[in-house]
This record gives sequence, structure tokens and C-alpha cells, in this order.
Amino acid sequence: MSAPRLDEQRIAAARLWGALRFPYLASAVFASRVVTAPGLGTIAVDRSWRLYMDPAVVDEWSAAEIGSVLVHHVGHLLRDHAARAQQLGIDESSEMAWVAAADAEINDDLVDADVSFPVEPILPTALGCEPGRFAEDYFRAIRDKPEFCAGECGSGAHGRGRRWELNADGIPQINPASAHLLRCKVASEIRSCAGNLPGTVPLGWQRWADALLEPKVDWRRALAAEVRAGVASVAGCVDYSYMRPSRRASVTGDVIMPALRKPLPTVAIVIDTSGSMSDDLLAAAVAEVKGILQGVGLDRDHLHVLSCDAYVHKVQRITSARQIELRGGGGTNMGAGIDAALQLRPSPSLIVVLTDGYTPWPADGPKRARVVVGLVGAGHWPAPSWARCVRIEEVT
Ligand SMILES: [Zn+2]
Repeated sequence: MSAPRLDEQRIAAARLWGALRFPYLASAVFASRVVTAPGLGTIAVDRSWRLYMDPAVVDEWSAAEIGSVLVHHVGHLLRDHAARAQQLGIDESSEMAWVAAADAEINDDLVDADVSFPVEPILPTALGCEPGRFAEDYFRAIRDKPEFCAGECGSGAHGRGRRWELNADGIPQINPASAHLLRCKVASEIRSCAGNLPGTVPLGWQRWADALLEPKVDWRRALAAEVRAGVASVAGCVDYSYMRPSRRASVTGDVIMPALRKPLPTVAIVIDTSGSMSDDLLAAAVAEVKGILQGVGLDRDHLHVLSCDAYVHKVQRITSARQIELRGGGGTNMGAGIDAALQLRPSPSLIVVLTDGYTPWPADGPKRARVVVGLVGAGHWPAPSWARCVRIEEVT
């Protein structure tokens, strides 16, 4: 009797299904090589991006079901669940809980996208957890609860080699360096897709792409660096002035020498007060900006604060972060806030926008002011390329 063969056409249709549903994952969906695994009873993936498929399962599941499982496994590989499992010291006893946690991290984003799993997918709520978290969080919640068990996803999910992987001799692997390049490619596809068609990429994938392309740094330091650089670039626009005589005048006799004048910049802080902002993080960001500006010697006459959602509600001058009244709560348009800041007199030369990023932006930045955008909280639409951006997120 000849060995069972895989239905290649159905696998091709499944890949196509995955790539059409999740175009930003396409390069990963097509990257894996397939290994025939009779008797496996499922489809699994190894750390080297090879897919193990039981021919009987391929015959039984529809192309959409196989495609859903492919996209799920691509999730394990892109999110590097194998390496993360090793970092946690996952062993035989904790393997099942880890796979359930990793599955919940992936499926959370997939169920919204109308996939058709052949088996009931594990979701964060089924583990008694809030959605939108990382596998490590779910794992901590369920590690001591043996009732949560997952299916076999392979070493690509848990990092522990399996017997059947020996069958893969001669099937090309994707090495860690190529895998990293592939992850970066997918992450930039996600970004451009999320930018061109807002709402099409689940937030979990956007967060993953952002974290990969912009490793987290301490936002306080990053924000301080950008704001100080903004103030310095403006304060550095030194001008010669005859208002105050030069100290060198004494050596030049009757000739009046101009002195270097260092103008103190005016700074506007535009605060997004729309409903989606996290108050604690926003308050921390405002306090931080104010502290930085005081640190560079800016007094209240040089600082304006505007609260803004779809329209600018109020222009406030503040002496204390507590005086900031958060208003609004509707849709957001930070372009209106920037326009209002530019109408102020004296006109600000540095505008710091603190927003959750769910806002349209003008196509071009202001000509006579530098803009620093502090993106508060997780998950944003893309920030404008003409501004300096800092992600304000608590590092966990
Ligand atoms: Zn899985």
C-alpha cells in the first residue's frame, strides 16, 4: 500500500484563503514548507517554520478551515512563541498551559476576522482573562490550573522538539536570521495596511508590529529628549541684537557691537481629551512635559495649554498640571488643535501634542513650528511623518 499523499491543491487553496483574508500576513503564510505527517491527527508547526500535515486531516477539513489553522500557526511563528516559552522555562508540566495561553493571544485577533476553525478556538475569556493581553499574562493566570488544555500546535508554539519532526529531513527550514527578516517584512506590511485602511488590522497585530519595529524605550526619557531638542533648536535660533550692548564693547571703543540674543521659545501643549484617552497615563505625560519645560527655564508666559477633541474647546494657560481641565469626549481632530496653537500670540515655535493617536492629521506640518507628538497608550493610527513621535506606554 502506498503512503498517504497530501492533497496539494487543497493546501494551495488554504494558503490562498489565508493570504486573501490576511494580506499583511501573506509572506509568512507562503513561507512555510509542508511535511507529510500521517497519523498526526492535526496540523502542527515546528520552530523552523515547517508545517506537519496529516493527509487524513487535510482531506477532512475545508480549505477555509486549513487556512484558518495556517494563519493561527503563522501567529505562533511570527510572535516567536517558541523562544518566549524557553525564556519562561516551559517544561513538560507547563507546556499545555503555555500553548493554551499562546493560542489565546493569537485567536483573540482571529475570531474578529471571521475565521472558521475546525475546532473550538481557545480565547482569553475562556481562560478567565481580559482580552488583548500577552501569552505570558494568560500563562501566569492559568499555570496552576490543569483544566485548561490545548491541542498540539508543535514546537513552533512551545519550543519542545517532537518525534515526528525527524520526518522533516531534507525539507528546507527557515533559520532564525531569515525568520527575523520575515517578521520585519510582515510588521511593515501590517503598518502600511493599518495606515491605508484603518480598522482592517486587529489591534493585537498592530501592537506586535509596533513592538517589533520600535522596541520600547522609557517614554519619559524619549519624550524629554524630543522636547529638549525642540526647545534647544528654537532657542538655538540666536540672533544678533543691539538691544543689549556686547560685553566686548569695552575693547572696541566707540563702536557699538551687537550682542547675541537667545530668544526663549513659546511652547504650546495640545492635549487630546477625547473619550478614548487613558487619564492616568495622560496626566503622567502632561506632568512630564511640564516638568521638562520648567527644567529648561520656561515660565508660564511662554507656555500655552489647549484641550482639544474634534474642536478646540478651550485655550488654557496653566501654572500647575492640576489646572488642566479635560473636556470634550467626542471624536478627535488634532489638526484643529495645532491650528489653534498657531493662532496664539506669541506664536509657539514648539507644539507638543499628547494624543491616543486616533485622529486625522494635516498632510503637512506647520512651517514655523516644530511638532512633537506623544502617543499615549497602546494601539494607534500612524503618526505624521513631519512630527517627532514618542510612544507613551507603561513598560511592563
Ligand atoms: Zn496554537
